[in-house]
Amino acid sequence: MRHPLLNRFPDRENAFKVFFHPDCLLHEGPAAHPEQPERLKAILEGCLLLPKRTPVSFDIPQPAGFDQLLVLHDQQYLNRLEEAQHKTTVFMSPDNYLCQDSFAAIQASAGCALASGESLLEGVSSFALTRPAGHHAMRSTAEGFCFINNVALATEIVRCSRPGAKCLIVDFDAHYGNGIDYFYNRDPQVLYYSIHADPDQIYPHCGFPDETGRDKGRGTKCNVVVNTGVTGTQWLKTFQKTLLEFVTKNTPDFLLVSAGFDAHKEDPLGLMSLTDRHFLNAINLLLEIADEHCDGISAWFLEGGYSIPVLKRIVPKVIKKLAR
Ligand SMILES: [Zn+2]
Repeated sequence: MRHPLLNRFPDRENAFKVFFHPDCLLHEGPAAHPEQPERLKAILEGCLLLPKRTPVSFDIPQPAGFDQLLVLHDQQYLNRLEEAQHKTTVFMSPDNYLCQDSFAAIQASAGCALASGESLLEGVSSFALTRPAGHHAMRSTAEGFCFINNVALATEIVRCSRPGAKCLIVDFDAHYGNGIDYFYNRDPQVLYYSIHADPDQIYPHCGFPDETGRDKGRGTKCNVVVNTGVTGTQWLKTFQKTLLEFVTKNTPDFLLVSAGFDAHKEDPLGLMSLTDRHFLNAINLLLEIADEHCDGISAWFLEGGYSIPVLKRIVPKVIKKLAR
């Protein structure tokens, strides 16, 4: 049966794209694990409530093939991961549970990311509803609920086609994207800006302000650390000031956004106190940056966020704002 989102929001030329895949729901962990299929289920339900006239197309892309994942990840790692789903319920880190169908979900999620990368090259903005998320994953390491680094996969698509172009990844998940840093900390062509909670207090315990990139990549990374006690308004002011300063110094050609919603005040991880309004204001700034530097185009990737009601209402609100 055709997915109801495809019927409600069929393909429209050049409309904002949302890439999702029903197989992303197959990845299931222990009961009460914060990273659960209900996260994505709720987002899809919320999207069905978007006004029919919203200029958006929903699309189910092909899952990523093994060869496409090899662009970033190690063959042995992928083999181990594919085999592990039949043998164990945990992979490499206690955070990374597996079930019999996890690899299909991982490939489907990466397929959404690849589609977003292609879309960026075609000049069409998009949101990839990637689950499992990706910003903690490294070449041969799964951690922090992540297996494949989705945003980096999309970045590689862009770089293959446009060598020399500068990609900016902005990450507002409450946790530092140590996987993104792993791939690009020596690479001056990939700019990385992350605003996150104090790594002294929370996972992944790195991403301090003095980590600005290594060797040729020095100065092309920006880590903004925010104390867990700050108000949403203080967070927003800090985000606006520091991101603008960074973008003024390092002008990007392509904008990719690692969008995590675990800094929301209703998030069960309880790290920060943002409301919907703070996220939507942050998105306004990202749209301005896209307009000024990237022909108004951007690609978005779902990272964390564990409150089911928050995800159900905020992701559709964000999509509505992005689908201009
Ligand atoms: Zn997070």
